[in-house]
Amino acid sequence: MSLKYGDENQGEEAGAEKKDAPAGARVLPGPEDLGFPQPPPAVANKLGLVKFNLDREPHLRIKDAEVCRRRCRQKFCTHSCPAQVYHWESEGKKISVAYEGCLECGTCRSGGCPYDNIEMRYPRGGYGVQYRFG
Ligand code: SF4
Ligand code: SF4
Repeated sequence: MSLKYGDENQGEEAGAEKKDAPAGARVLPGPEDLGFPQPPPAVANKLGLVKFNLDREPHLRIKDAEVCRRRCRQKFCTHSCPAQVYHWESEGKKISVAYEGCLECGTCRSGGCPYDNIEMRYPRGGYGVQYRFG
């Protein structure tokens, strides 16, 4: 059941403050109204479905650590990678690259780093992420 503005019991049983919609406000549809019986799974929940055949050769490389250190204040890669492969080490002042968990989505070489400072190639045949479909 989804609570909507104007529901008689909204928030009262839980002791929460009752919120009334302004007159004439539209009631937004809940997820189940849109055909989602449950919230869509987050990427993190889906990561348990993939397997990795680890290659000892990294297929990701930071081209110039100085660019990360001196020019890139936002550390975009730490936000753009869905697998959180990149991590800023504030003590060592460098980006660490956990290439083992790479999903090979290609984000980091197509806009994930505005300085084009990541060299990404695909792992050797038979290595890397293995998706389970179906
Ligand atoms: S976005 Fe690019 S330049 Fe910035 S920290 Fe990441 S790899 Fe370095
Ligand atoms: S290819 Fe995708 S998953 Fe792999 S490091 Fe780049 S952004 Fe992350």
